[in-house]
Amino acid sequence: MSELNYYTYKSTEFRCEKCGWTGLGEEATQGEMFNELFEIHCRTCDEAIAAIPYPTFEEVLEHGSEEDKVQVRKAMALEKKVKASQAKSSKNLIDIEGAVTITFEEIHKEDKQILAVFANDQLLWKEHIYFEYFERFIDIIHQLDKKYHGQIKDIHYQNTTYLLGDRISAPGKIKNVVEEVKAQFKL
Ligand SMILES: [Zn+2]
Repeated sequence: MSELNYYTYKSTEFRCEKCGWTGLGEEATQGEMFNELFEIHCRTCDEAIAAIPYPTFEEVLEHGSEEDKVQVRKAMALEKKVKASQAKSSKNLIDIEGAVTITFEEIHKEDKQILAVFANDQLLWKEHIYFEYFERFIDIIHQLDKKYHGQIKDIHYQNTTYLLGDRISAPGKIKNVVEEVKAQFKL
């Protein structure tokens, strides 16, 4: 059997363990959708019979439509740009005396989305971002905490709606990290 993925599941044969139905993936019904995969269900009894991951960039480039390939190439180019700016930005952390107030600001200029980080109104860090960038956001907070441990008095991030995106869990996760860091303040 070839590897089960987004492009092979339709022509792969499945068997429902519950009712014994057998058939191809394309005959199954679509079930619940998650961030990284979706389920397919038995068309007879509706039991979940398999979980299909969404295609990776590499899989789209190999098997996807021309339109999908264009989208993926754009996303890969952006990812490369973001990674390069991430590597550069963390080297610019300067030493600061005393209490530090961190402010995150999104800058949207033409087709560029940039995250700027200020420490006591001094620009500390700048990097390219994309929609729903909050995992990196948390990573940046951890890096700042490492550099300025015990010095961070406050963290402002009011203007970061693009970064947080639509993930319901994002604001809560970030709030927890921010509170943890602020609790370490001891000056
Ligand atoms: Zn079934």
